[in-house]
Amino acid sequence: MNRRSNDVTAQSAAILSWLRQRESEMAALLADLVAIPTENPPGKNYRIGVDFLSHLRQVGLDCERLGLGASRDDAANSLESLLASYGSGERALYFHGHYDVAPAQTSAQFQPQRKDHFLFGRGSADMKGGIVAMLYAIRALKEIAADLKGRIGLTVVPNEEVGGTDGTAWLAQQGLLGRDGIGMLLAEPTSGVVWNANRGAISLRVRVFGKHAHVGLQHQGKNAFERMHAVVEKLQQLKREVEQRTTRFNILSQQARNSILMLGGESGGGTSPLTVGAIQKKALPRKKTMLLDVLERCKQDGIPPDWDILQECASTFCGEDGPLGKALSQSVHAVTGEAPRFEMCPGLLEIRFYAAQGMPAFAYGGIALRGAWPKQIRRPEKNRRHRRHLCTDSDRNASCIVSALSL
Ligand SMILES: [Zn+2]
Repeated sequence: MNRRSNDVTAQSAAILSWLRQRESEMAALLADLVAIPTENPPGKNYRIGVDFLSHLRQVGLDCERLGLGASRDDAANSLESLLASYGSGERALYFHGHYDVAPAQTSAQFQPQRKDHFLFGRGSADMKGGIVAMLYAIRALKEIAADLKGRIGLTVVPNEEVGGTDGTAWLAQQGLLGRDGIGMLLAEPTSGVVWNANRGAISLRVRVFGKHAHVGLQHQGKNAFERMHAVVEKLQQLKREVEQRTTRFNILSQQARNSILMLGGESGGGTSPLTVGAIQKKALPRKKTMLLDVLERCKQDGIPPDWDILQECASTFCGEDGPLGKALSQSVHAVTGEAPRFEMCPGLLEIRFYAAQGMPAFAYGGIALRGAWPKQIRRPEKNRRHRRHLCTDSDRNASCIVSALSL
């Protein structure tokens, strides 16, 4: 083992020891965050941003609130991002997270339950647990008076679950994202691999109109349901073609290797009948053209559909051989004893906003995206829909921190 590896191992041991003593404190903060139902869509109860801000200030971090401010109709729902920082100097390594969560099936998911080293509740894995982990990572750096060669920034945003509009996309448009950044780490639940790429995606809402008529005079009308069926048939033909394509990137399962054309589902603030996920940069515009061609052909066949594009997000790839990729790999190895695999995320990922600015960006978290209930504890509830969770993952903290130290 070389001297640098020894240093990383020694620092990770000191950091892990500091974190392990604060497990209950972290779990309590996480429970408070999980109890705020920041479901998105529709995107509500965003006062979490303000609540979290007070915690950042208490632990002595500089913090800026940035965003579009409170909605006139709902003061609890202001669209705010938080930017905290620790350290000084020109260069900044960013930690990044989102505080909105996917919609819950029942309000009981916002009553967090602690079981041993785990905390269960909506958003505890994706990704309020990551936010707490990153905050405590920064606190640990502060406590051990780490010699940083720059700043650590923590960016916490709303609206990740619907494509980043008014959250990370807004920060990027305003020139406020990743200022002086040398890279970004995102504590999403990646099941222990590092995600260094994501697919692109385009989502559309398609509507087909009919003409009203009495049932006895149906020949005078146009049946919207039957027309939609004809449109869906054409889209299903395209689906078979699109889903033949596969990626050469590493990805978790063989089934996730194919491009996606999904009919139905929910995205961007409501049901959207159509989402296409493509993998390579040039593939998304090509698939968009194929999709719009199908809809145009429907018009020629006398069925005029109407469509809105709900989101259009670029694919991203960050090479793992640069300084940040190597530092992250080395840090994960120091903490877990194994170097992580670098893989493509099966969905969208906010690393794309940083990568678009030429910055290396990676997601890493030890927890599964849709983690099975941990083997070592029994399910507290019979309802399978509650399975989505966990946190207080001190290993993940340490990996983020040690990356910061070794750059
Ligand atoms: Zn997430």
